[in-house]
Amino acid sequence: MVEVDVLIVGGGIAGASLGAEIAPHRSAVIAEAEEQCGFHSTGRSAAFWLESYGGPVVAQLSTASRAFLDSPPPDFSEHGFLRTRGDLHISRGDLPELPEGIESRVVERAELERMVPGIRPEWRRALFEPGCADIDVAGLHSAYLRQFRRGGGSVRTDSRLRSATRRGSGWTAEFEDGSTIHASIIVNAAGAWADRVASAAGVEPLEIAPKRRTMVQLRVGQSGLRDLSLVDDSKGTFYFKGEGDRTIWLSPHDEIESDPCDAAPEEVDVALAIDRFEKVVDWPIEAVERKWAGLRSFAPDRVPVYGFDPTAPGFFWCAGQGGFGIQSAPAAAKLAASLLLESAPDPMVAHIQPPPYSPARFR
Ligand SMILES: Cc1cc2nc3c(=O)[nH]c(=O)nc-3n(C[C@H](O)[C@H](O)[C@H](O)COP(=O)(O)OP(=O)(O)OC[C@H]3O[C@@H](n4cnc5c(N)ncnc54)[C@H](O)[C@@H]3O)c2cc1C
Repeated sequence: MVEVDVLIVGGGIAGASLGAEIAPHRSAVIAEAEEQCGFHSTGRSAAFWLESYGGPVVAQLSTASRAFLDSPPPDFSEHGFLRTRGDLHISRGDLPELPEGIESRVVERAELERMVPGIRPEWRRALFEPGCADIDVAGLHSAYLRQFRRGGGSVRTDSRLRSATRRGSGWTAEFEDGSTIHASIIVNAAGAWADRVASAAGVEPLEIAPKRRTMVQLRVGQSGLRDLSLVDDSKGTFYFKGEGDRTIWLSPHDEIESDPCDAAPEEVDVALAIDRFEKVVDWPIEAVERKWAGLRSFAPDRVPVYGFDPTAPGFFWCAGQGGFGIQSAPAAAKLAASLLLESAPDPMVAHIQPPPYSPARFR
């Protein structure tokens, strides 16, 4: 039987980033059910960093992650992972309120027309968040996996955890292929499957709810869109951003309850996205080039969960990253690592209090 200090269940951005932080200090294995890490939510995101997204408790982690994403240490990556494009929260009436301290300015109609040519007249103004940036998600995820392996960690794909049993001072984990691993600590980084993994270990679930979100890539009769800002409705009913010269990524901002699964887009949600888009700009739609869907998984209070379960020794939660798991990953991984290793927090997160993220808030 393989013996390790830490078994991380799930090789998405959550498991990979926490793994990279702890590998130099503890022996660790990432077990990923799929043939490839990043197959589920991590590989399906809209790939942006938006500081105001998710409310103030999440924003603390996103804000703390910015400098690392912009210019990571050279041994982690030779280049940064962000490309700034800004975000326009457009409105027909009132402007949204952003969490305190987030840079923004009001854009009136004349400037809005220059920033989004063809925008329909009812969109009167916008709040512009200049810091919004694209994230190179694949680059970030693979840099974390590389760092994890460099620290001595190993990754096992095609390894779906079936059950875990508390034995002595650790856990015996059994996989669907019949193999077993003995670990002192199990990290639950299973994304949409987080509650199922908890149940498989005899731990009471936290009601982490997966919700499906749809994305569509459209080709439109308008050029010059590559650097278009992210454009969203201050009421949260759509967003789109430039992709290529004449293509955009669009979402109807849907949040449809789902079982954990290989999520796929439904025609009705693609149609809804297009209907909402046509109410924003007058650009003719030429083709739906791609469509996909993924699951965003939320704890009941929509704040992610990092920490040991007070009811289950050695069971560590790293789940509920909703729609912000990429943009908050660097700080979240450092916060979670200090809790798991019971060590002083990295300066990146020294100002962040852990209790709002603790699973103890639900017990
Ligand atoms: C459409 C969409 C748009 C998004 N846009 C953004 C964005 O712009 N910015 C942002 O920051 N975030 C965004 N997100 C959210 C972000 O993608 C997620 O928060 C993040 O990817 C979650 O990472 P994860 O590692 O927890 O989950 P996942 O990437 O799903 O990884 C969990 C892994 O656990 C594995 N697993 C499950 N059960 C088992 C088991 N029993 N044994 C072994 N392995 C198991 C799964 O196979 C999976 O690979 C978006 C999400 C979606 C769906």
